[in-house]
Amino acid sequence: MYTHKPAPQFVRGRLAPSPTGFLHLGNVWSFMHAWLSVRSKHGTLILRMEDIDPQRSKSAFADAAMEDLAWLGINWDEGPFFQSGRMALYTEAIRKLSNSGLVYRCYCTRKELRALAGAPHAGECGSPYPGTCRNLTAEQRKNMETMGRHWALRVRYPEQDKGFYDMALSGRGEPLPEGLARLPGCRRDAQGRLIFSPEAAGGDFAICRSDGVVAYTLAVVVDDMDMEISEVVRGDDLLAATPRQVVLHEFLGNKAIPEFGHVPLVLDAKGERLAKRHNGLQVRALRNAGVRAEAVIGYFAWQAGLIDGPRPVRIAELVPGYSLRRISRRSPVLPDAIQDMLAAMGN
Ligand code: GLU
Repeated sequence: MYTHKPAPQFVRGRLAPSPTGFLHLGNVWSFMHAWLSVRSKHGTLILRMEDIDPQRSKSAFADAAMEDLAWLGINWDEGPFFQSGRMALYTEAIRKLSNSGLVYRCYCTRKELRALAGAPHAGECGSPYPGTCRNLTAEQRKNMETMGRHWALRVRYPEQDKGFYDMALSGRGEPLPEGLARLPGCRRDAQGRLIFSPEAAGGDFAICRSDGVVAYTLAVVVDDMDMEISEVVRGDDLLAATPRQVVLHEFLGNKAIPEFGHVPLVLDAKGERLAKRHNGLQVRALRNAGVRAEAVIGYFAWQAGLIDGPRPVRIAELVPGYSLRRISRRSPVLPDAIQDMLAAMGN
């Protein structure tokens, strides 16, 4: 169980893999930025395994992720902590929110709740929850329960716009990432903060499934708060989930909400986001094919605009002068021959 309580003035970031498959190049890109951002500020990195979904998480994937990260030179100072061992904290947070009247029982069917346990991704959160169960009377709830209906718990999303400053996106003239640009109710204000209407943020969101599985959003916020995380650096796919996390931080009374920084997603040659099915782009497949860690890091350093051309580098060499505010906002697009290209780098 996590115990360390640091002095809050220090930067604290985290690497938060979901051990549901082997790490691929998309994960490497995000973790590289999370690591460089913290290391460039002499901060502390925490490794947290987000294994809250019992059906999809495997301890073998957690072991493999640690091995792959270490191979890449992406180290950490505290952890690994496993969300599966921290259930008491999540239950306590749910109790606190329920006691304050900030959540309600939602009897909508499983199908509507399908996306809950996994992290939602930009432009994929579907239409906002229409509020079907928001104002049920005690009698209506009783009827549902007499009929044997199970319930999920949903947070009452506040009726105002929510915004946050993004270390990699705000204050730059670049267009919003596509997923957000297409989202009605999402804009950037004069200070560069990203602003979401309640609808753009998905409306009332679930924090616990009807089968008792705690939602990603709740676990991530409780952990970021408990571990006194001061910066969250991750892929653009979680941009649209951030307003919900800000709301939960506020509801749980966090006085030091982390800063967020979202980096562009790595795409394959067809322009698709990397996924578990891209076997050849897994870190271990590349390693087995003779690719060096320095080639992977060097390729991404070049794509991020940190070095002028693709050449092998150790990640530690990239620390001086690194800033999320300066990295390229273009998605790295991996050519079909990426494995050969990486294998040939520096040989
Ligand atoms: N575990 C999440 C994922 O792999 C990332 C969570 C986060 O960085 O907030 O998608």
